[in-house]
Amino acid sequence: MKTFYHSTRGNDQTVTSKQAILAGIAPDGGLFVSDQLGEKSLDLARVSSQTYHETARQVLSTLLGDFSDDEVASCVAGAYADNFDTPAITPVTPIGDDWLLELYHGPTCAFKDVALQMLPHLMSRARVGDGRDVMIVTATSGDTGKAALAGFAGVEGCGICVFYPEGKVSDIQRLQMATQQGENVSVVAIRGTFDDAQTQVKRIFADEALRGRLAEKSCVLSSANSINVGRLVPQVTYYVDAYAQLVRSGAVSAGDEVDFCVPTGNFGDVLAGYYAKRLGLPVGRLIVASNTNKVLTDFLETGTYDRRREFKKTISPSMDILVSSNLERMLYYLTDGDCKRVASLMADLSEKGLYTLDAALLDRLRETFDGGFATDDETRATIRSAWERDGVLIDPHTAVAKCVLDRAPREGRARVCLSTANPYKFSADVLAALGRDTSGMGGFACMDALQELTGVTAPAQLSGLRDAAVLHEAVCDQAEMTAAVEAACARAFA
Ligand SMILES: *Cc1c(COP(=O)(O)O)cnc(C)c1O
Repeated sequence: MKTFYHSTRGNDQTVTSKQAILAGIAPDGGLFVSDQLGEKSLDLARVSSQTYHETARQVLSTLLGDFSDDEVASCVAGAYADNFDTPAITPVTPIGDDWLLELYHGPTCAFKDVALQMLPHLMSRARVGDGRDVMIVTATSGDTGKAALAGFAGVEGCGICVFYPEGKVSDIQRLQMATQQGENVSVVAIRGTFDDAQTQVKRIFADEALRGRLAEKSCVLSSANSINVGRLVPQVTYYVDAYAQLVRSGAVSAGDEVDFCVPTGNFGDVLAGYYAKRLGLPVGRLIVASNTNKVLTDFLETGTYDRRREFKKTISPSMDILVSSNLERMLYYLTDGDCKRVASLMADLSEKGLYTLDAALLDRLRETFDGGFATDDETRATIRSAWERDGVLIDPHTAVAKCVLDRAPREGRARVCLSTANPYKFSADVLAALGRDTSGMGGFACMDALQELTGVTAPAQLSGLRDAAVLHEAVCDQAEMTAAVEAACARAFA
């Protein structure tokens, strides 16, 4: 069965899932959604006995119906192999009376790997028959860039160009990107902030003259950011697989509801949990955990989404977000597919900086979602208590969720806290949370000290960076970014 997608802001033009993945965002600025979500449901009895790969194939075939079974099978096999450091891919482990879903076993030690190891495979299948080369252009504040680089390196017909703000990412994050191998990858530091990089990338996407020059060379630009359905869909798998693991371990019986608490920025990860629920997974509450950039906590409390507030830099930087792009998809499903309403809410957000749901819709949202937030101090205290009380070392993003989960009422259901990064990605903040003075210490010194203190081994993907050759040292001005993209295309598609 083909799966059709259309914009959240209008349903007069439908595309296949392959076209939606290639385009990333709909032409009217909306996000691609499918009205077929929920038409097919999972066979729970079967789910419990499936491997991660089997579940991934089932989820992808259900949500991306125009990929053939063979295509899906080869994408899954390519995405989840020995690039993950455990055959379980996303293991569930105990933490106190709850469970941790470890999403950080991929090549860059953050949960974005689960989707970004898959997206390039989906994209290269989607471009077959199209014939054009695809250049991914991304601005990154640290984590997404490396995960996208690792995913797209060496992928036939695809290239990737990542821009990061010079001097504004951590030592480890810079090395992760600067040591990336691959003929088709470019990494460039820019003189400016992350917002500058982001603004320039948006300008590059809107640059008709550039698009024309690239089209002559049979090349199109695309993006790997989290609004792409090709990133959302692979994330549904681990909710289903986590449930299967809990059934197999005897923690729940098939059919019991399970709550999930999700550290949230762009609302992509937690939305995947909602998709899993719509596919028939017995999901109880979905708890949306934020840091002090708590737009979503306030939204769930008041019904007003208000981005007009001061942006706060926190120790969970991947959640420092004021506009949670993927929430637009949730609004679409919440309004039973009322594109006009979604378009008008989004217009309010961009013109006035806020929008308000009516009481009926807010009640409906709250039927599934709860919200809560943690300050940096609470996050540090949670890292410390998780280590001292439960013997589990967690990163600041995971700690935000754990803190919110600890405050949520236990209603007799099993509860899973999503763990989105390896603690060694944020060695300095974790070490400080455990009470050590880190002043004057570099990234690797913190890593060493944290290993010594806890006896937990740092992953080879991070400790190995110490000896890896630096391959990318380019720094450019913002005005030179267009030229950098053209040079990246020339190199990748020579
Ligand atoms: C991106 C990221 C998040 C937030 O995920 P969203 O899908 O944007 O909600 C949380 N934790 C880590 C470590 C991340 O990299």
